[in-house]
Amino acid sequence: MRCTKCGFPVNINWKYCPNCGKKIFRSDFLSEFDRMCQEVLEEIQGSQLMNSKIKKIKEPKSSIIINGFDTIYEFYLPNINQDKINIRKVGESLELRAVKNDTLFFKIVKAPSNAYISEKEYNNGVFRVIVKGK
Ligand SMILES: [Zn+2]
Repeated sequence: MRCTKCGFPVNINWKYCPNCGKKIFRSDFLSEFDRMCQEVLEEIQGSQLMNSKIKKIKEPKSSIIINGFDTIYEFYLPNINQDKINIRKVGESLELRAVKNDTLFFKIVKAPSNAYISEKEYNNGVFRVIVKGK
């Protein structure tokens, strides 16, 4: 890991960068995905709905196909209850959440900012979402 200010190699357990003195925050070294996972976990743990059931987060495999003005996203979610799949448009991203037993499948993919979700379906372990617009 490197200091986010000067790039000097640092250890996550250090309090300050020995080169430039910047305070080291654990969260500085999380990837954007990890950071979002953590936020989602906290949100879930704070909600009554799925409280205490979720023990782990996994990132499902996915693929993106661009077809004219449509973008087709496929998320691989085998043997999941369709009612437990949730997808929403957040800014320039699509946010997928799906729950199976104690696992949350969570993924963020880029989507055009003014596009909208026009179709979604779940078939044979694949959750397909069609987004229209650019
Ligand atoms: Zn530094």
